[in-house]
Amino acid sequence: MTQRAVVHYNYTVTMFETLSAKCTEILRGFRGKTRISEKNVQDAVDAIKLALLDADVNVRVVRRFVSRTLREASGEAVLRSVAPGQQFVKIVNDKLVEFLGERTEHLALRGPDTVSTIVLAGLQGSGKTTTAAKLARVLAAEGRRVLLVAADLARPAATEQLQQLAATIGVEVATAGTTPLERATRGAARAKREQYDVVIVDTAGRTQLDRALMDEVQRIARKTDAVERLFVADAMTGQHAVEVAKAFHESVDISGVVLTKFDSDTRGGVALSVKTVVGAPIRFIGTGEKLEALEVFHPERIATRMLGMGDVVTLVERAQRTIDADEAAELQRKMQSAAFTLADYLDQFRRMRKIGSLSSMLDMMPGMKQALKDESEAERQMRREEAIILSMTPGERGNHRIIGASRRARIARGSGSSVFEVGQFLKRFEKTRMMMKKMTKNKTMQAQMLAQMSQRS
Ligand code: GDP
Ligand code: MG
Repeated sequence: MTQRAVVHYNYTVTMFETLSAKCTEILRGFRGKTRISEKNVQDAVDAIKLALLDADVNVRVVRRFVSRTLREASGEAVLRSVAPGQQFVKIVNDKLVEFLGERTEHLALRGPDTVSTIVLAGLQGSGKTTTAAKLARVLAAEGRRVLLVAADLARPAATEQLQQLAATIGVEVATAGTTPLERATRGAARAKREQYDVVIVDTAGRTQLDRALMDEVQRIARKTDAVERLFVADAMTGQHAVEVAKAFHESVDISGVVLTKFDSDTRGGVALSVKTVVGAPIRFIGTGEKLEALEVFHPERIATRMLGMGDVVTLVERAQRTIDADEAAELQRKMQSAAFTLADYLDQFRRMRKIGSLSSMLDMMPGMKQALKDESEAERQMRREEAIILSMTPGERGNHRIIGASRRARIARGSGSSVFEVGQFLKRFEKTRMMMKKMTKNKTMQAQMLAQMSQRS
């Protein structure tokens, strides 16, 4: 059984800023266009090509990107379509996503009763030890028992460095053994014995890629039956990072790349080149020296940000999908019949948080907007309300009317709020529901609501 670990992300990086500004500029004119010519497309693609080269994207990758985009965008189907400008933006976006790696790849960890080993490899100073601790932190926070293995015996202080980092996050470090391979295998055996969930092996790096380094990593990965072999590359070294990762992947089967130091002054092009040149996806990016600074790499988000055209892409996608409309219709039905439950409400919180648009949600909830002064207050309130709902039983979430005085007291205790607050919340929710029902009777409002619903999914 394979279980996907969910690592949280928080894009605070400023990478791609220049590239993004350029792409936005190039595509701005296309947004609302109802007619575009072959020449328009060619000019835009040429401009994007220069922007990519300037951002340090690998030349071969740029060439491939350009030819594919042109091929797809120049056809009659696009040029003669209803909204060719938007279609074109969508094509550029999709190509970017394709080159960045299609989809987000989470760690392929094994099921509950098995140990999963992750081996980190890379050149000296690329950020392996730091990344090992960062990953340990994230996985431990998800409730997994993590064991770090110090398998770098080349640098005298390497073990201590890992121990120091591990101490700050309360994770054990295995140090038994006198060779890297022995440390790794003994660490993995200990993990099995002591029922750890994940073992992260930090290996030694060299100043350049050589046979000995690759052999060592390969042996460690094989002996520990590693589920993930991550190559850690320093993004600051630009195309060199990509070439090194490629060479490594050719002899050791890596499952992904971690690009570190993305917070530094990189032009970002490396990210666009890795998947195509190396043949393995980027899994994480390191965005700082602190242990919190690790982010899951999301191709589609990066692409959207590069183009600064999220709205256009969503619009086109919406037109191409019907699932959202179905969901929206179902929700509308619930609102109309006042069958909208606290569970639905909670579900809306979750979706909203995924996209981070609070105001569109507030627009949807009549009676809420007036009650809340600003977004941060709304955030706090949302968290309080979420805690209250989470303290309820499924039955209560499905029907809040069964919640009497004693249940209110229990919910208040469970959510760290007062009985009064729980009561207030239930009253507010009831009012919202009634207003929803009233509102959905009105055709215009109904249409607006549907539009908003599908925008948010
Ligand atoms: P190793 O030799 O591969 O184990 O590399 P280390 O983990 O010891 O890292 C080398 C240096 O890079 C250290 O000073 C780290 O703090 C720093 N470092 C690692 N990852 C990042 C990152 O994502 N951003 C920044 N700014 N520094 C990093
Ligand atoms: Mg190290």
